[in-house]
Amino acid sequence: MKNVPSYLSASPTLYLVPTPIGNLSDMTFRAVETLQAVDYIFAEDTRVTKVLLSHFHIATPLLSYHLFNEDEKGDDILELLSKGHNIAVVSDAGMPGISDPGFLVARKAIAAGFKVVALPGPVAFVPALVASGLPCEQFSFFGFLNHRQSLRKKTLLQLVNREETLIFYESVHRIKAFLNDAYTIFGNREVVIARELTKKYEEYIRGHLADVINREWELKGEFVVMIKGSKQALLAVELNKKTVEEHYQFYLDQNIDAKEAMKKVAKDRQMAKSEIYRELLKPSK
Ligand code: SAM
Repeated sequence: MKNVPSYLSASPTLYLVPTPIGNLSDMTFRAVETLQAVDYIFAEDTRVTKVLLSHFHIATPLLSYHLFNEDEKGDDILELLSKGHNIAVVSDAGMPGISDPGFLVARKAIAAGFKVVALPGPVAFVPALVASGLPCEQFSFFGFLNHRQSLRKKTLLQLVNREETLIFYESVHRIKAFLNDAYTIFGNREVVIARELTKKYEEYIRGHLADVINREWELKGEFVVMIKGSKQALLAVELNKKTVEEHYQFYLDQNIDAKEAMKKVAKDRQMAKSEIYRELLKPSK
């Protein structure tokens, strides 16, 4: 175990700095100050970051770091840190490391004993989720699923019983195919698509999967897709209002065998199976 305080020493630091996902006003003061203060900025696409830096009058030297040279550039970053330099990593938009390069260098820097600090700031899926109207107490983020339909469907199938809100990133080229696959696997679940967040044409498309597949809407820009979790959890809440016997009977009525039904009742009610068994053996009043 190792504790590394973020602020109590002036040792060289790797900063992961989020940048706006559409609206330049979302750049934080701290992000600007950090990018001004570090010795080098490593960017996913230097042409994109140049525009941002010139807007905020940041003259820090800019170097390239992207998915295809992440490993090699990670070593260059470590070398600069070891010479005492402070480094910032930015992606084209949003939080580095979230469906963007950043993870590998953070891991390498941690392993080499350097401080790694991520600044809070723009990221697409958090505002999308919070304004979606879907439950945001528990959620899982999956980023982009595989481009190949068979692998994408396989992942979706593994998620079918998940109770939390499921969040995906999708590109304009695959959004239609993704929604069709989601409908095939999940059925007509509630879905919210956040399109063009923080930009002029920002909108939320709320409905069920069948609606969004069949209805006309602007298939342009960038998308966060959020799918409501399985109703199982809500079902458990309803079932817990019943007697143990009724609860057990409900599962038997779904053609679930006695042993499995007892296991499910125990799980829903957070009781031991032996307790459920005893309850079921009691003569009914
Ligand atoms: N690092 C970014 C973040 O923190 O969210 C994500 C980068 S990833 C390469 C790009 C994907 O993020 C897009 O295809 C889209 O799914 C999502 N995204 C980024 N900006 C968005 C926006 N303004 N509106 C909706 N989705 C966005």
